[in-house]
Amino acid sequence: MLQGIGFVLDNSARKELEQRKDHFLGMASHELKTPITSLKLQTQLLRKQLAKQDIHNVDTALSRMESQLNTVIRLVEELLDLSKIQAGKLEYAQETVNLGDVLQEVVEIVQQTQTTHTIAVEHAGHPPFLVGDKARLGQMLLNLISNAIKYSPEADRVEVDIKTSEEVVTLSVRDYGISIPREQREKIFERFYRAVAPHQRAFPGLGMGLYIVSEIVKHHRGTITVESERGKGSTFHVTLPRKSP
Ligand code: ADP
Repeated sequence: MLQGIGFVLDNSARKELEQRKDHFLGMASHELKTPITSLKLQTQLLRKQLAKQDIHNVDTALSRMESQLNTVIRLVEELLDLSKIQAGKLEYAQETVNLGDVLQEVVEIVQQTQTTHTIAVEHAGHPPFLVGDKARLGQMLLNLISNAIKYSPEADRVEVDIKTSEEVVTLSVRDYGISIPREQREKIFERFYRAVAPHQRAFPGLGMGLYIVSEIVKHHRGTITVESERGKGSTFHVTLPRKSP
């Protein structure tokens, strides 16, 4: 009996802790995002002013700061998304989206900072129009492409294919990187899960990206799968229906 009560208390305490953690994540990300965003704007302004006077070194330092700030902002945004997903409060727009245009924008943004890999895009079939949330679909593409680059440090190419039929848009992001062991291919879509083996070189990350990607895909009533061959790399396949329910 006593044991039973202990168990109940234990369970509700754990639940409360879980709730507190989710609440904390939401608060912490909000608190961080405002000052960091303002810092970034001020850095940009300062860099532009200084560039006019051609003070090269200051410009370089400020560019680095800006890039670090971008990393922090992305991290905080992911924390915020995670907390919203937990609370069932992630909001989605419903608009007509040309996924090809979104992909083009994402590729341009990535290639501005990542010059180690060429991102090759191929289209087939109809124009890739669908109904969904443009910004979230962009976030999905950015995550998959950033991962493809991050987890293929020895490669110089990432391939993205979009195929569009009457019914669905199928997107494939292929890399020639470290690949994913079979037993981990399901788990990588879970919250905070990281498959990177300890002996491999350090890949930074917190294991939030693919969880958020799979939530976005789920919201659009799509599916996401991964194919991977040891030593040859990985391909993530996303299939999204084109018609709204
Ligand atoms: P993060 O990259 O921050 O760890 P993700 O949720 O994006 O988080 O990915 C979860 C895990 O899946 C990663 O830690 C990595 O082990 C694995 N992974 C994701 N994408 C790839 C890829 N393209 N190639 C190899 N492993 C990958």
